[in-house]
Amino acid sequence: MIPFNIPPYVPECSAYVEQAIQNHKICGDGVFTKRCNAALEEIAGVHRALLTTSGTSALEMAALLMDIQPGDEVIMPSYTFCSTANAFALRGATIVFVDVDPQTMNIDPECVRAAITPKTKAVVPVHYAGVCCDMDALQAICDEFGLLMCEDAAQAVSSTYKGRGAGSMSTVGCFSFHETKNFSMGEGGAVLVQDPALAERAEIVREKGTDRSRFYRGQVDKYTWIDIGSSFLPSELNAAYLLAQLEKHEEITASRMACWNQYHAAFEELENKGCLERMYVPAECGHNAHMYYIVLRSLDERTALIEHLKANGVNSVFHYIPLHSAAAGIKYGRFHGEDKYTTDRSERLLRLPLHYGLSAEDTQKAIDAVLSFFA
Ligand SMILES: *Cc1c(COP(=O)(O)O)cnc(C)c1O
Repeated sequence: MIPFNIPPYVPECSAYVEQAIQNHKICGDGVFTKRCNAALEEIAGVHRALLTTSGTSALEMAALLMDIQPGDEVIMPSYTFCSTANAFALRGATIVFVDVDPQTMNIDPECVRAAITPKTKAVVPVHYAGVCCDMDALQAICDEFGLLMCEDAAQAVSSTYKGRGAGSMSTVGCFSFHETKNFSMGEGGAVLVQDPALAERAEIVREKGTDRSRFYRGQVDKYTWIDIGSSFLPSELNAAYLLAQLEKHEEITASRMACWNQYHAAFEELENKGCLERMYVPAECGHNAHMYYIVLRSLDERTALIEHLKANGVNSVFHYIPLHSAAAGIKYGRFHGEDKYTTDRSERLLRLPLHYGLSAEDTQKAIDAVLSFFA
């Protein structure tokens, strides 16, 4: 059976974890965490990157840093992971879900504009499948209405938009290093901040609301509780595992991209015949081959294809159940405008195996299984 995902691993992961153990420093913010932060600042082109315990906690930190208050409205796509919404619902905000652009499954800027009210505080674009949202259009809307923006770049580590790094284009950007992502530390994430003053506050919020980072740098002679915060620091053991991959991020992405390109070329004919739609990447987006998906003609056809692939030794999976239709989505949010594409396309989208080290032979096996379904 070809698995849908295998967590990324390079031999240096083991060596670095062993080193962290030998260092007798396994709590947060040791040398491995600092080297990961520096690597991420370089990859994303951002002033400050700080590792967190998950992509979820990075989003929760973002909501704290943006001072989201009860009664605020936060606009995001319904087609995303529940953590995107949870982070803001936890601060008492009302989640306003809007529709996606059918070509990319990313938030539609015109739907954002239509959903703005005097209570709107922020917009949260999600770079689905590592393909960046229409950031110029979203930034123009945020500027016009004085809104904050938080990129959920959980899937978009090392992706770009017009040459700018995903996660670097808003007030706070969020990465995930869950085992299903391109680079992983088991569970982990990062917040990215461009504004130096906000970066200083991010250090405090991440350290349980204390100025312990300043203390370690010798800037204050004792540390104390000065803001609300939580324990958002991951262990050095996890950071060590991640660092090994960040040092080889180009090689890892190239391996994934080879599979992505193989799928994309193989399905062109089926797309031309109208059997399926291939994933689409706008010219201004440099993607990271996080995912390869196709969109089938109906839910029934997708169900049949999943079964056919399974019978042929290939694991494939669908993705998000739209949040506005979920119990918590109904309780904590509302959908603004017409659900033209979110539900329909979420029922027809199918993700194929793609992970670091997936061989050309196995990719071909998955391709052949899709081709035989339509033959
Ligand atoms: C993975 C993911 C998250 C959550 O990240 P965790 O590290 O699993 O907490 C949030 N948003 C999106 C879009 C994701 O893909």
